[in-house]
Amino acid sequence: MEELSLKTCPFCKQDIASADIFCPKCGKRLSESASPMTMGQKIRIYLASFFLAPLGLIWFFKYIRNPDKEKRSVALISLYITIAVLAGVTLITYYYVTAILDYMNTSGVDLNLYGITY
Ligand SMILES: [Zn+2]
Repeated sequence: MEELSLKTCPFCKQDIASADIFCPKCGKRLSESASPMTMGQKIRIYLASFFLAPLGLIWFFKYIRNPDKEKRSVALISLYITIAVLAGVTLITYYYVTAILDYMNTSGVDLNLYGITY
């Protein structure tokens, strides 16, 4: 009695042994990019998209045309994370700058001296 670990061929959707390099059913090569993504890989991509915000776009463009639906969803999620982080950074910067200008204004600093119309 042997236990075979199975995966689904991304081309013909047949169950095949996960060690196969070529699909025995349709003969297509199961390259690295055709193998399913592990949870660890996904988490690394999401973390990198978050902490290295614009880099999330790399995975977006890398995976968005992938025939694997799961990888397309990873592409979309890394895009959403990138957008959310960039929007967050923009908002924080905006409030930070506004707070500084407010502080300078109420401290009696003449902002016009610095060419800032406030
Ligand atoms: Zn196949």
